[in-house]
Amino acid sequence: MGRTIIEKLWDAHSVADLGDGSHLLYIDRVMFHERTGSIALKGLEAAGRKVRNPEQVFGCMDHIVDTIPGRTDETMVPGGNAFITTTRDAAQKAGVNLFDLGDDRQGIVHVVSPEQGIVLPGVTLVCPDSHTCTQGAVGALAWGIGSTEAEHAMATKTLVVKKPKTMRVRFDGQPGLGITAKDLILRLIGEYTAAGGGGYAIEFAGEAIRAMPMEARFTLCNMAVEFGAWTGIIAPDECTYAYCDGRPFAPKAHVWEQALAHWKTLPSDADAVFDKEIVIDCADIVPQVTWGTSPQHETGIDGVVPDPANEPDANRRQSIERALEYMDLTPGTPLEGLPIDSAFIGSCTNARLSDLRAAGAIVKGRKVAAGVKAIVVPGSSQVKLAAEAEGLDAVFTEAGFEWRESGCSMCFFAGGENLGQEKRAVSSTNRNFENRQGPRTRTHLASPAMVAAAAIAGHLTDVRKLEQS
Ligand code: SF4
Repeated sequence: MGRTIIEKLWDAHSVADLGDGSHLLYIDRVMFHERTGSIALKGLEAAGRKVRNPEQVFGCMDHIVDTIPGRTDETMVPGGNAFITTTRDAAQKAGVNLFDLGDDRQGIVHVVSPEQGIVLPGVTLVCPDSHTCTQGAVGALAWGIGSTEAEHAMATKTLVVKKPKTMRVRFDGQPGLGITAKDLILRLIGEYTAAGGGGYAIEFAGEAIRAMPMEARFTLCNMAVEFGAWTGIIAPDECTYAYCDGRPFAPKAHVWEQALAHWKTLPSDADAVFDKEIVIDCADIVPQVTWGTSPQHETGIDGVVPDPANEPDANRRQSIERALEYMDLTPGTPLEGLPIDSAFIGSCTNARLSDLRAAGAIVKGRKVAAGVKAIVVPGSSQVKLAAEAEGLDAVFTEAGFEWRESGCSMCFFAGGENLGQEKRAVSSTNRNFENRQGPRTRTHLASPAMVAAAAIAGHLTDVRKLEQS
């Protein structure tokens, strides 16, 4: 019987079958950031252990760093400076790679890794961060771990991992104009719930995926964890190879040719059997937006806030009631037209160059609505430089957006800046949990173009209306 890409990568990295459903897996790359990676590096140091292959360990300063232009070590959130200096010192002692502040390779770890060619098809990669699944988009087995596991992986190049079940989610048909990877993944989560992928490694496949550019594939895999999955992966193809070719850490010359020959063996065999299969028809998907406090609380922009009374399951009913109270929304309210206070374009989900281009195309020649705070935070310093080279910074600032340095910024509330108590934000990020973007901030998730459209209109709106105007 044929094997799935997940099984091929698993088998290639299994050092030992431990007999209880777990394997000792070989880990090719370890990524970290200053929030959790510093804990792992300090732990290793305290235990007197060394990093086994420092050249295969890479760190980014992204979570705590200030994104206001002119930032320094001293302009971080209260207490943030300690994370920065601890990480810097520990990384230097351990001899690992660090993309520090001031380095033009700095940025959000899951944006930087593919950008630099650190994650490649066929590798295993771990990072003490839940959105490591983003990197599965190149055909890697990449998943989030805890700080203690990161310590173990750095010291031994191995980890004990319970073998996940396999699922294939097939996106059939072609999405309509203005429909993005963000809309596809939100639709999946909305239809099958935020726990729908629990216990699975998921291959995203189908006609829509094969036609999808690489940066959109990262968006899709980024939210595999919001579907409850262990990780997400997309089989490499010509689009992947073209993306990886020439990246600083990618193989070169004859090694590239060898790698390419290997990568072409990775896609799931035609007769491979998955434990579960789901099919999503892309043809009918409209721009999606969340109304509640979970990514599963979503609907099309043409939808209305649901009525909990219509939910037969008591737990789900209570969850909807609580979400509506937090979001200050009444059942039956149309999403289109809901006034917003702020608009945030950033994060490892949707702050790559193509995201900024899509949002910029909506913003160009228009102005942010009065009273709306609008912010763009590029996903990496490389994205920022590339966007500036084509004038996107001017497009956004002339419209009234703030143009920031790279980092996680207000994707999550780190104790510093936030989007305001009881303020309604539309955001290109991946989590709309309570207090995620600040104490009592009310977050609506959407694609970057939808966020841009809302910033201009001053309320949630269907981006396709602006695109046509
Ligand atoms: S951008 Fe947000 S989701 Fe991504 S790594 Fe940073 S905090 Fe996590």
